[in-house]
Amino acid sequence: MTSASGPFDLVIRGGRIVDPASGRDGTGDVAVKDGKIAAVGTVAGEGRREIDARGLVVTPGFIDLHAHGQTVAADRMQAFDGVTTTLELEAGVLPIALWYETQARKGRVLNYGTAANWVFARIAAMIGAEPEADLAFMGRNSNDKRWIENVASDTEVKEILTRLRQGLDEGAIGIGILNAYAPGAGVKEMTSVCQLAAERAVPTYTHVAYASNVDPRSSVEAYIRLVGYAGATGAHMHICHFNSTSLQDVEQASRLIAKAQAQGLNITVEAYPYGTGSTVLGATFFADPQFKERTGGTYEAIEMVDTGRTFHNREELLAAQAQDPGSLVLWHFLDVEANPRHRDLLDVSILHPGGAIASDAMPWTNPDGSVYDGEAWPLPEGTSSHPRSSGTFTRFLRQYVRERAMLPLIDGIAKCTLIPADILGPSTPAMRAKGRLAVGADADIAVFDWDSLTDRAEFKAMNRAAEGMRHVIVNGEPVITDGALVREARPGKPVRRPVKVG
Ligand SMILES: [Zn+2]
Repeated sequence: MTSASGPFDLVIRGGRIVDPASGRDGTGDVAVKDGKIAAVGTVAGEGRREIDARGLVVTPGFIDLHAHGQTVAADRMQAFDGVTTTLELEAGVLPIALWYETQARKGRVLNYGTAANWVFARIAAMIGAEPEADLAFMGRNSNDKRWIENVASDTEVKEILTRLRQGLDEGAIGIGILNAYAPGAGVKEMTSVCQLAAERAVPTYTHVAYASNVDPRSSVEAYIRLVGYAGATGAHMHICHFNSTSLQDVEQASRLIAKAQAQGLNITVEAYPYGTGSTVLGATFFADPQFKERTGGTYEAIEMVDTGRTFHNREELLAAQAQDPGSLVLWHFLDVEANPRHRDLLDVSILHPGGAIASDAMPWTNPDGSVYDGEAWPLPEGTSSHPRSSGTFTRFLRQYVRERAMLPLIDGIAKCTLIPADILGPSTPAMRAKGRLAVGADADIAVFDWDSLTDRAEFKAMNRAAEGMRHVIVNGEPVITDGALVREARPGKPVRRPVKVG
């Protein structure tokens, strides 16, 4: 097979190489030089460092299209989940240049990148608040409902587009559309935003406007709109967390999206393998008198993170909302542990053909609710997030591939590597060198023990890192060695589109 001459910086020897891009699934070596993969196959030359990977699986590092953490702490937890590139696409930020400068200054463990945030542009245009390159900007402006509920005027739409255009000029990798957080936005505005994306040949990443199994404002209505944007503007529409926004209508949603895809529309999908989301108790849809019909769930499915309390009826819920609207809750929208029908529904979203696995990883927060941005390891007692922030990829591989054998390992790995890389490749040149073990590709590599690979985070113990990753390499540098974190490692590089100099 391929053989280049050494010496190499690193040779990973004798592992089971699983590389969906080439279709390779067999024993071999991977050599790394100057942060790139230099040889794959039987490597004769020596490495300054060698990893004995006999009995282990060697794959491209996992690529997460949906990660809100974006801190050293979040990176480390994701590294143990096999992730080497972690992107904030669903929300994104503004201003883009400042965000990339900040990340480079603080140093990142994993490769990082962001989209331009449509909601931030809306807040700026509609209430005059100047965006700060931090997701908390949204929460800080949530008392002014104009950007949430109103249709934007022509002047406001113009400013929204100007700010998004600037974000793209500064290298943002598409436009994040948190439509559900500003459900008042009109179809004409969204069409203009998608036209801008089409013009710049970048994807949009959408949290669809509605999550309900009842019309009007149903999930299906929201997906049909999204299909319309794809068809009428030519934009690449990427659907975020297909599992959580479809609720019980996921079979119908999956059929509709598959049909739209089959007709050539540029629509892609991601999902995470949990039936539980997280939000604040004050979220308005909990108070909807039709909450049960719209979500197909019960009040018992709403669980307070701090006390474990659940509810029995709307009155109890409303009383708690009035008292404690900012409290974090888990919302078990599908009870996948106890209800086989719900598990089937989750499976449909996870196994949607061509779909990526993406975590929707949340920031790690201190007990007082502030974001944990420190560098202690392990994470301090009491820091919380969501199990998906540290277990999405290992959970998917353990449950769907190893335990339930629903797809072969190479296809499971594709959903964590090649598929997300190819979703971004056409618009973001840097992604074409990721998600594959090929000569010249970035040396982002996961080496794991397939028999013991598992997520460990639970809703009662969130900050447990996954197990089974023996070595995780980012741009040729180890961030996990022999199953242990390399504390000083900061090899993460920006994933960014070319910056327009003007
Ligand atoms: Zn979302």
